[in-house]
Amino acid sequence: MIIQENILLKNHTSYKIGGPARYFIEAKSVAEVQEALEFWKEKGIALFVLAGGNNILFSDGGFAGLVLKISLDSVRLSGEEIIVEAGAKLSDVVELAAKNGLKGIEWAGGLPGTIGGAVFGNAGAFGGEMKDIVVEVKSLDIRNPEKIVSRGNKECGFGYRTSAFKQIRNEIILEIKLRLQQGDSEEIEKAIKEHIRYRIERQPLEYPSAGSTFKNVDVNLVSEEQKKQWSAVLKTDPFPLVPVAHLFSEAGLKGKKVGGAMISEKHPNFFINTGGATASDVLDLISSAKKTIKERFGIELEEEVQIIGENGGIKF
Ligand SMILES: Cc1cc2nc3c(=O)[nH]c(=O)nc-3n(C[C@H](O)[C@H](O)[C@H](O)COP(=O)(O)OP(=O)(O)OC[C@H]3O[C@@H](n4cnc5c(N)ncnc54)[C@H](O)[C@@H]3O)c2cc1C
Repeated sequence: MIIQENILLKNHTSYKIGGPARYFIEAKSVAEVQEALEFWKEKGIALFVLAGGNNILFSDGGFAGLVLKISLDSVRLSGEEIIVEAGAKLSDVVELAAKNGLKGIEWAGGLPGTIGGAVFGNAGAFGGEMKDIVVEVKSLDIRNPEKIVSRGNKECGFGYRTSAFKQIRNEIILEIKLRLQQGDSEEIEKAIKEHIRYRIERQPLEYPSAGSTFKNVDVNLVSEEQKKQWSAVLKTDPFPLVPVAHLFSEAGLKGKKVGGAMISEKHPNFFINTGGATASDVLDLISSAKKTIKERFGIELEEEVQIIGENGGIKF
């Protein structure tokens, strides 16, 4: 296990934003995760568990504790099940499934990140979510790292972009078992390609970002009048939602800039780094967009991106 110091987090996130981590350890095995947790406990500092950094905004001051990057990444097939370590890339799992004619994860075609990060936030797209395919999750309690916890799907507490892991934040996901079904290889490949094409066409992938900044809005939280007003644009995935991108368009927020951060014109729920954006640029843009939406529509937006302060993370 190598303990690095003052590692720039901007090099470990899709946003390309973030100051230095006081300590940084990349764990490639369960033993290394356990060893890193011993170090963390000895130091008495804060901990942040990092995967591919695709859903994170670190602060400009960085992180004053230990950033533990989960890089265990084996993927194996067992009949219609895929057993995958948390740090494996979603794209590797999607590819393995397609190669073996297994359907059920095509929705993740083009979705960046790791399988562990996707379980943590119950990632979803195109009508699919992690909760539909997870059979079992093995994790480790950071306060008792010798103990491996095993959960079935129901015990994972999946909800819209959330899970039990996100709620309790004291477990590190190690391994996931996914169940898929036999399908037609050609159709599977076609669906994956279609989702990748859709993302290239509709999302500002040419700029660094962390994907959607806010969760879409539950239709039950808006007035009857607003429901009628937005009936033509409502999403049904994974339940009826008002797309935040539409609210931003109506409020004239497309293209709004603070420093190097900008609300994308192509997909206004993406707050992009147009070059040299700082975390404080993005945070100012987030606050100002939230204020506008609250004033204009009476809606309180909730961030989907994980905002991690210098002294955030988990304390022992
Ligand atoms: C261009 C773009 C498009 C995107 N589109 C979508 C989309 O369509 N749908 C969607 O749901 N998301 C989307 N995202 C967000 C992102 O891809 C997902 O949230 C992804 O599943 C998580 O990314 P990651 O694996 O890099 O995790 P990270 O960003 O590194 O971490 C995310 C969270 O998970 C926790 N975590 C990660 N690994 C573990 C682990 N092993 N144990 C415990 N906690 C862990 C971290 O502490 C953090 O809080 C998009 C992002 C980008 C950049």
